[in-house]
Amino acid sequence: MENLIVQKYGGTSVGSFERIEAVADNIANTHKKGNDVVVVLSAMAGETDKLIQLAKSIQPEPEPREYDALISTGEQISVALMAMALTKRGIKSKSYTAYQLGIKTNDRHSQARILEVNVDRLKDDLSEGSVPVITGFQGMTEGGDITTLGRGGSDTTGVALAVALNANQCEIYTDVEGVFTTDPRICPKAKLIERISFEEMLELSSTGAKVLQLRSVEYASKNNMPIRVLSSFKEGNGTLVCEEGNDMEKPVVSGISSIDNEAKLTIRGVPDIPGVAAKILGPISDSDIDVDVIVQNISAENNTDFTFTVKQEDASRAKEILENTSKSLGGGLIELDDDIAKISIVGRGMRGQSGIASKMFESLADNEINILMITTSEIKISVVIRKDLQEKAVNALHNAFELDKD
Ligand code: ASP
Ligand code: MG
Repeated sequence: MENLIVQKYGGTSVGSFERIEAVADNIANTHKKGNDVVVVLSAMAGETDKLIQLAKSIQPEPEPREYDALISTGEQISVALMAMALTKRGIKSKSYTAYQLGIKTNDRHSQARILEVNVDRLKDDLSEGSVPVITGFQGMTEGGDITTLGRGGSDTTGVALAVALNANQCEIYTDVEGVFTTDPRICPKAKLIERISFEEMLELSSTGAKVLQLRSVEYASKNNMPIRVLSSFKEGNGTLVCEEGNDMEKPVVSGISSIDNEAKLTIRGVPDIPGVAAKILGPISDSDIDVDVIVQNISAENNTDFTFTVKQEDASRAKEILENTSKSLGGGLIELDDDIAKISIVGRGMRGQSGIASKMFESLADNEINILMITTSEIKISVVIRKDLQEKAVNALHNAFELDKD
């Protein structure tokens, strides 16, 4: 069998007719070199946002089934246009929706998980020298309803097809050159990373790095499918996200991520007795609200303060729930603060090495950045700070851990 490459292109990569033509040239080149190519596309840049606005202008909380039926349509436009652009170049090509192909998911609309991918038709096409172009982001339930995979979900479609086809390479084309040590828009000294382990990429994606959808990294890691992140605008080798190899460096800190879309909730003066944390967080998670960082203070006079963060969009709902909990627990005031940012440093070299946290905290202290909350995992340390200090903190830590050096 020939070399089989899955290429996924993001929204900005196919954001205009000129871009679609440029991407078609890239696909044509790969194909002419004798590779089998399967293409996965996002909607043209901004299209999905527009569709979401349309839905919300009819119904603020649209029916999940109809919402997915609508917001999945952007991808259908780009794949058909791309198949035309390839055909124009003398390359056989057919577009497919997830429905036509049979990309089965569970029925959690807007957050669906892929369960099964049928690639029979794709294999037939490839054997005829054709280039199939598939809608990213979409799936279908067992019962035949259209689902979507969450924002940025085309990455996951790309990886899932690469796995199902046992592809030699999974390339994800975007508008940046690859994965950087931190967001170059925040820190101009950010450097392109040549190779990074799945484990580190998982931590970076789950703490704010937006280059790959978290689910796509989980899927790739579980199935050991390396991903090469590349720019469709600029030539280069990009970043290889893969299983940790013995030959791979183990930097103490590989990357720094940050987010500013969480809010901090504090419930004051709750009794310091067994079961209180469960009573506070139980109703929050029952309402499908994800809790991130949690801190319980040392108690004074048998009372304690309990603080945790949630996504900003869930904050007012969480506050209402907390107010009820507070009444039943005999607790005090609820405070909501959405003026915060969370900064995380991630690196496999952190494992078993002491002193990393203190180095992080010293660097923040030197820059007069106050830490509001701290949380750690084996290869990650996160701090919550004031939002207006986000940029300063990222730059300070990037310098402190010398991420701009080779
Ligand atoms: N078009 C979808 C979005 O904007 C999926 C994707 O681009 O990956 O989120
Ligand atoms: Mg994306």
